[in-house]
Amino acid sequence: MTAKMLRFVTLGRAMPEKRGAELRRHDFDEIYREFRPEEAADQASRCSQCGVPFCQVHCPVHNNIPDWLKLAAEGRLEEAYETSSATNNFPEICGRICPQDRLCEGNCVIEQAGHGTVTIGAIEKFITDTAWEKGWVKPVRPRRERRQSIGIVGAGPAGLAAAEELRRQGYQVTVYDRYDRAGGLLIYGIPAFKLEKEVVQRRTALLVEAGVTFTLNFEVGRDASLEELRRRHDAILIACGVYKARDIQAPGVGLHNIVPALDYLTASNRSSLGDHVPAFASGALDARGKNVVVIGGGDTAMDCVRTAVRQGALSVKCLYRRDRANMPGSQREVAHAEEEGVEFVWLAQPEAFVGGSGNADPYKLTGLRAQRIHLGIADATGRQQPRPIEGSHFHLPADLAIKALGFDPENLPEAMGAPGLELTRWGSVKLDWKRMATNLEGVFAAGDIVRGASLVVWAIRDGRDAAAAIQRYLMAKEAGLSATAAE
Ligand code: SF4
Repeated sequence: MTAKMLRFVTLGRAMPEKRGAELRRHDFDEIYREFRPEEAADQASRCSQCGVPFCQVHCPVHNNIPDWLKLAAEGRLEEAYETSSATNNFPEICGRICPQDRLCEGNCVIEQAGHGTVTIGAIEKFITDTAWEKGWVKPVRPRRERRQSIGIVGAGPAGLAAAEELRRQGYQVTVYDRYDRAGGLLIYGIPAFKLEKEVVQRRTALLVEAGVTFTLNFEVGRDASLEELRRRHDAILIACGVYKARDIQAPGVGLHNIVPALDYLTASNRSSLGDHVPAFASGALDARGKNVVVIGGGDTAMDCVRTAVRQGALSVKCLYRRDRANMPGSQREVAHAEEEGVEFVWLAQPEAFVGGSGNADPYKLTGLRAQRIHLGIADATGRQQPRPIEGSHFHLPADLAIKALGFDPENLPEAMGAPGLELTRWGSVKLDWKRMATNLEGVFAAGDIVRGASLVVWAIRDGRDAAAAIQRYLMAKEAGLSATAAE
């Protein structure tokens, strides 16, 4: 059947049914239900099949979106899955967590023309979830086995994407990760109401089935140095992400109950996975019954506020020093959070953290002294600079403050026992981007450790690029060896 496309003229944009805020405030289930097949086909048929598809141009992995939309509109879902998985290792993950409003959907010409974007992300999720249901998602089966081995440091999205691509070529792949589960931030950072954990775990299981070895609870620098790993493998990929939380400078920041975002989210995700987390059990990392203030305006801050709501916080406020239009987080996430009862305090920043005298714990946080901000002139990056307004203090009660101010790289040469590894002035790994190569022979890097904290889809793109670069390197090395042997 050939579907009639360009139906945006007569058919409005529709997302899958969203569960009511009152219902979703009480659980960690994903908030959207799946499209019904006819709804997905209808929505896909709104695409105008642009000659120059801006959706694809603005997708970090350059998904062939118009093609898989047409196939989905025609009900040819298996082919749609093949097309979407040709450029993306985890389309169902991107369908769930990509900020499509800043990428494909934000650049869809129909959106720009005022008709409402094609719901690309929801259709991508529908296609891939259907593929899983029907058994079309299979482990990669290399045509031939190669003897060379690659060690990948980090089981987050960059490492997992690279592992699959390298295994597809028949290389022996070992993924090392310091945590006890593979997935990195997909498992321990992103809350289940955005990405249910089985969605990640079934991908990891597929990689195991494909022959990828996972060595978990393994910390490079503690269990082996990078040099030792280099001796063990023919190539190394560093894809360990960035985990060092940026801190805040303000009086009282050392009080109890002021916690980094990732500690808070990890405790929540771990306890949802059934782990015993003492800091969660003691209440230190649990928002139940508390007035919570989250500081920051990125996607991690949005994850924290929405987690706090679900844990049963008394009140949840998000304090951000810029305004809504200038926040780094997705506008969709803000809308979800507001529906769920989060209050945003724009153009404000903490001036001091206040502890309560008279409490059993004298170091217990009781509130924040905040101050209002106005946005001044733009700096060299084009962003207006936040300026505190004199005498504009106000008080916010808080029993738990969560710092979501972004992440920096750890000192990798020191942490990994690799003093020769070159870094940029921001502390990220210095890369020759054409070769995805570090300054150390046979050592490559990908994902946040190279580009700084960024989107999962960029990590996937980097992982794929690094896999291709590693393959070129190993083939050249092998060709060089055989040439030498023939001489
Ligand atoms: Fe279809 Fe929008 Fe992409 Fe154009 S930009 S091909 S209308 S999804």
